[in-house]
Amino acid sequence: MTRTLDVVASEASTCTKCRLASTRTHVVFGVGNPNADVLFIGEAPGQNEDKQGEPFVGAAGQLLTRMLGEIGLTRDEVYIANILKCRPPGNRDPQEDEIETCTPWLVEQMSLIQPEVVVTLGNFATKFVLQTQTGITRMRGSVYPWHGRKVIPTFHPAAILRGGGEKARQFGEFQEDFALIKRTLTEPEPPPAPPPVTSLVEFERAAEGTPAVTDDQLELF
Ligand code: URA
Repeated sequence: MTRTLDVVASEASTCTKCRLASTRTHVVFGVGNPNADVLFIGEAPGQNEDKQGEPFVGAAGQLLTRMLGEIGLTRDEVYIANILKCRPPGNRDPQEDEIETCTPWLVEQMSLIQPEVVVTLGNFATKFVLQTQTGITRMRGSVYPWHGRKVIPTFHPAAILRGGGEKARQFGEFQEDFALIKRTLTEPEPPPAPPPVTSLVEFERAAEGTPAVTDDQLELF
């Protein structure tokens, strides 16, 4: 039977699968709408997130919340999670074995939420989701098909803040990426592709708009 997000969060809250368990205050599982159309994935909790048990509540989180607002979304409408659920000491980079040990939680979150769009914030999330070695500067600005869904990589908000916030060289591109998220979420789904035409008779029927009846269908009557 499928577990609910609450059950998974409760199990994760006592996780001791890696060394970060010994230095964390809280496991930061994720917040938001369990049926969200869009999932944002950051890197790892910082000091504020570790204290409060919620992702993106510090300065980077405030910028993320503001960017969501600019495209008409609230934190409650989306889902926000991280690659690592526990804070690396001193906010150091996640280590490879930590990513490997922790990401099954994220994969389970993704499979329960089933978001239409996944937004990866920065290099760690982008490299994990798209299995790429290409850096965020080259990856951003595009929509990548992924398991029948879409991935939109953009800068990590903390990188934008380090670059000067609104004055950062990349701030315009960051805004463009959020506009791309909005367009991707609101654009209508293309109609399903017609079945492949396999014979001249079927081709002619398709051209006339009469669907070819298959043997299988006939057996239903
Ligand atoms: N940076 C992240 O990647 N995640 C957080 O939750 C906070 C800051």
